[in-house]
Amino acid sequence: MAPRNGRKLTAAVIGTGFSGICAAIKLEKELGINPQLFEISEDVGGTWHANTYPGAECDIPSHLYSLSFELNDTWTKHYSAQAEIYAYLRRVAKKYNLYEKTKFETEIVHAEWKEQQQQWLLQWRNTKNHQETGSGYYDILFAGLGPLRVPNIPSEFAKFQGPIVHTTQWDSTLDYSNKRIAVIGSGATAVQAIPELRKVASHVYSFQRTPAWISPRDQFTYPSLLKFVFRWLPFLMRLYRIFLYLQHEMYYVSFGYHNSFLARRIQAGMTKIVAWRLKRAGRPDLIPVLTPDYPLGCKRIAKSELYLEALAKPNVTVIKSGVSDIKERTLMDKDGNAHEVDILVLATGFDVQGFTGNLDIYGRNRMLLDQKWRKDFPKTYKTVTVHGYPNFFMLLGPSAALGHNSVVTQIEIQVDYAIKCLKHMVRNNLAALEPKESAQELFSKNLQKDFNGTVWKGGCRSWYMNDAGEIYGLWKGPIMSFYWALRSPNFNDFIEYKKMPRVHL
Ligand code: NAP
Repeated sequence: MAPRNGRKLTAAVIGTGFSGICAAIKLEKELGINPQLFEISEDVGGTWHANTYPGAECDIPSHLYSLSFELNDTWTKHYSAQAEIYAYLRRVAKKYNLYEKTKFETEIVHAEWKEQQQQWLLQWRNTKNHQETGSGYYDILFAGLGPLRVPNIPSEFAKFQGPIVHTTQWDSTLDYSNKRIAVIGSGATAVQAIPELRKVASHVYSFQRTPAWISPRDQFTYPSLLKFVFRWLPFLMRLYRIFLYLQHEMYYVSFGYHNSFLARRIQAGMTKIVAWRLKRAGRPDLIPVLTPDYPLGCKRIAKSELYLEALAKPNVTVIKSGVSDIKERTLMDKDGNAHEVDILVLATGFDVQGFTGNLDIYGRNRMLLDQKWRKDFPKTYKTVTVHGYPNFFMLLGPSAALGHNSVVTQIEIQVDYAIKCLKHMVRNNLAALEPKESAQELFSKNLQKDFNGTVWKGGCRSWYMNDAGEIYGLWKGPIMSFYWALRSPNFNDFIEYKKMPRVHL
């Protein structure tokens, strides 16, 4: 694409998970921009590099949970384990030479839009020695930080006088065998970890304030013949992906509106399945404990064919409460029972509020994004751009995740939108683009309105929701509506910055 002031545009991409990888590939493919990637850890993969707890898998089928331009005929199972998804992302990163474009073990500590230069100034430091290691100016900034990155470590657990492990910072050097392990939390992570931990532990105490809805999972291994067919007839693999996509879109239709006839029927069916599974496992007494009292889908539905069965085993105790107190290695439950354990596992999810973690992003007039987004509803324009932050593209930030389908598709739609904005900028010889405040206000207002009546506001608490009870983590509808909203930018909704004479840095 055309150069800017006689030079090529420069772009920084923070993060090398699905978001960063997708953005970097498309920047190069579509705009000829050779991006600089920054990665806090020592390898690519983002969430699929970080989360190595036992049982870590993806509950969205891999033929759907992958990049549409990098289909993979070798997926071994319908739902892949962490290691296979991580290997896939490493392969893609290698194929597109992203390793050589990435500064690893490098944390961006400060990003600031410099109005004079019309560029982003980034400052970074090495994550090992915490020394400031560099800074640089970039025309474009993509943030692929991942909303589920900063572990939520509730302060009350600090009193525990033994090893404490958060699932996203799994300590594989610890010996878990024959230990008494307490697992706090019952979200999608705990649902995957408990069946594996139970196999090695002498006893697992599962503290559940709020049980999750558990749906049986249709896990299977792909036969070699099918992999062969996918390899040589890739259009069949694409058709299969479309089928999976449509199947998952139907989940939105099924439970998106919990008061609908269909949603109520499905919830009644799911209640029976939970009861049947626990009876079959010989623990009908757990039925009232493990049947949620909030609508199906309000929190993420966890898919597992192992979890309820694991909770029914003799070496697992389900405690339907949080922890009321901790004395040395003894956890007190709300009924006053004491449980002495050796290891405390926190499957307590993530601190999503603010969405940018400890990264300070300053826009025009030195507005700190984290401060704006922590205080009020995190407003964006079409989930990708933000008023006050020119040439800034947020991936899988506020209002962009899903509770029913693959977020990888969301990421691709967001990246395509950003690329269209950038093409417009280059074509019109602009220095920068930023959404108008009025457009952002209207978008955010409609977004909130459209959540009314949906299951996500159905009376539970989840990471999708901020303290004010607004849904800030999710897109409001099916992927199709996301695609439609972002299919083509309306440039009347943007402030266009003309180029200023170049400032020599
Ligand atoms: P989560 O869904 O936010 O669940 C956190 C759990 O910790 C909840 O059960 C919560 O209880 C409990 N908790 C938090 N603070 C607590 C405290 N102080 N005392 C007692 N309990 C406490 O977190 P997650 O399970 O890690 O899942 C987060 C998200 O990651 C999922 O929604 C999903 O998007 C993603 N994920 C995806 C997959 C996949 O297969 N694709 C797998 C794992 C995770 P309350 O509910 O009572 O607050």
